[in-house]
Amino acid sequence: MSERLAPSMTPDTQFFWDGLKQRTLLVQRCAGCGALRHPPRPMCPHCNSLAWDPIESSGRGTVFSFVMPRHPQYPWFEEDYIVALVELEEGVRLVTNLVGTTPDAVSIGMPVQVQYEEFDGGLVLPLFTPVAES
Ligand code: ZN
Repeated sequence: MSERLAPSMTPDTQFFWDGLKQRTLLVQRCAGCGALRHPPRPMCPHCNSLAWDPIESSGRGTVFSFVMPRHPQYPWFEEDYIVALVELEEGVRLVTNLVGTTPDAVSIGMPVQVQYEEFDGGLVLPLFTPVAES
């Protein structure tokens, strides 16, 4: 049993997973109109361009929504875990897990930042943790 169920990787998403191995969070930017999009896909939904380049996200964002999956439990997780939709400050949203916090401490709009976690097989996932109050 691996530590974590690996995501499916395709030629369209490979750059994203490769970026994570370098501890960078990459977002597709349309070369035609400049719109950002995530998850990665071949064509821009705004201008239909197939040309794009990656930009590096700051890794900062806010909790747009979150849920607590209850049952059935996946074997990769020992305890309750938080699935969140994080809106990056660049404007795109991604599905992730919140770590370093508890469900009752999470709120919509809460500032979070990326934290790269490496699993066996070299899989690196972008998890998010609350930004410390300053
Ligand atoms: Zn476009």
